[in-house]
Amino acid sequence: MTNPYEPLELLIDGAWTAGTSGRTVPVLDPATGQALGALPLAAPADLDRALAAAERGFQTWRKTPPIERQRILEGAARLLDERLEPIARNLTRDMGKPLAEAWAEMQFAIDVLRWYAEEGKRMYGRIVPARVQGLRQMVMKEPVGPVLAFVAWNFPANNVMRKVAGALGAGCSIIIKPSEETPSTAIAIARALQDAGLPDGVLNVVFGDPAEVSAHLIASPVAKKVSFTGSVEVGKHLQKLAADTLKRCTLELGGHAPVLVFADADVERAAKQSAAAKFRNAGQVCIAPSRFLVERAAVGRFTDAFVAEAEALRVGHGLDDGVTMGPLIGERRIAVMEDFVSDAVSHGAKVLTGGARIGNQGCFFAPTVLGDVIDAARIMNEEPFGPVAPISAFDTLDEAITRANRLPFGLAAYAFARDAGTLRALSDGIEAGMVGINSPVISTPETPFGGIGDSGYGSEGGIEGLEVFTRTRLVTEMQG
Ligand code: NAD
Repeated sequence: MTNPYEPLELLIDGAWTAGTSGRTVPVLDPATGQALGALPLAAPADLDRALAAAERGFQTWRKTPPIERQRILEGAARLLDERLEPIARNLTRDMGKPLAEAWAEMQFAIDVLRWYAEEGKRMYGRIVPARVQGLRQMVMKEPVGPVLAFVAWNFPANNVMRKVAGALGAGCSIIIKPSEETPSTAIAIARALQDAGLPDGVLNVVFGDPAEVSAHLIASPVAKKVSFTGSVEVGKHLQKLAADTLKRCTLELGGHAPVLVFADADVERAAKQSAAAKFRNAGQVCIAPSRFLVERAAVGRFTDAFVAEAEALRVGHGLDDGVTMGPLIGERRIAVMEDFVSDAVSHGAKVLTGGARIGNQGCFFAPTVLGDVIDAARIMNEEPFGPVAPISAFDTLDEAITRANRLPFGLAAYAFARDAGTLRALSDGIEAGMVGINSPVISTPETPFGGIGDSGYGSEGGIEGLEVFTRTRLVTEMQG
């Protein structure tokens, strides 16, 4: 049984609308190339209405007591629980990931909403003991103001929810522009919040030409904060736009996660876990392990086990039973994968499995493993963001750490080892915002998620993910 695809509309000031531009873009199923619906694009006048609504919505929401905010957000979480199945199916339709992954992503997103609903009640300030009698120094934590959020297509639920839940939990209003390629989940999340009683204007959802929408919204003085998830290049561009009105930014950008595997580790387990993490969402994950550096004595064992995992994957339409890897988001990504493979081969790498697109319908690329990949190959330097895994040998701990740290990115990194000295050197020495040692799990609703260096700054998740939507004021009060 298939449920209907989500009706595609903009949400402005509590009303669902097609906007005034008269323009639409088709939303495609990347597994078939077929159109799922026509997405309306906002005109500048629609964006101005969203800004005015967010300004009014902020005044309402900031004054709503946190316990009342929690009641509404918790109500939305319950509605999303009830609606999870059709939302997950539509997420698979427009994004492509297997239904089990879409389901798990939605559950994670609902957890994020519940976590920030609760945590919003604990946005504590503090009293600082004064130097003179009768003086009271109060540090106040307040919502920063209306927020602008722009997010990529790879996690249509999580990318949206991390921003929406954090902003709403802190008492901010928000205008979010989800990806035009994967709009259904954000719309479904917004409907649940609206149905749960979120006041008009507190959440606005717009779509449009990404560069036009972000330039128009960021130029307005109404919003006080920009939060973006996507590529490094776009993140840097948005930070420049935000400078003119001095908006704060949170930038969740790309990475190129090294995986260091030492010979004393459980090498087969390392291969199994890191292959699962690598090929999740067809490798289109910002924290995906993407450079496999293996101690020379273990490289054969690791590679054999990793290739076996890649070959066991079943690639197909994410709604089909038994499928464990879906398509890439679009044709443009197939061309990028082909370039990575041919460039690596021209640098002496061997294609151990996969290496090419599958079929001539849909954007499928075979799970690919490359051996003997040298650091000069493009795939060792640019984020692959796809199902291609390069493996390379190392000889010493120092070499492994130096090579792990050689890129400007610093989002995620992983390592597998047993020796206590190695473990300490890794946890102290790897330059990344999130380091997983003997565990690929580095993202939960309650822990900070964010990068360093070119991977951006400002965490989402945990108390840090609330903090970024606050501002601090000091009130000093002398007894009259
Ligand atoms: P892209 O940079 O063109 O787009 C990434 C996202 O940013 C898209 O959703 C797009 O709509 C949005 N975007 C683009 N220009 C924008 C602008 N001026 N203002 C606001 N939003 C804008 O890349 P792509 O081809 O869609 O994806 C491939 C690359 O993007 C990958 O190589 C990867 O590095 C990066 N990416 C990173 C993440 C992440 O989670 N950090 C997610 C998706 C993509």
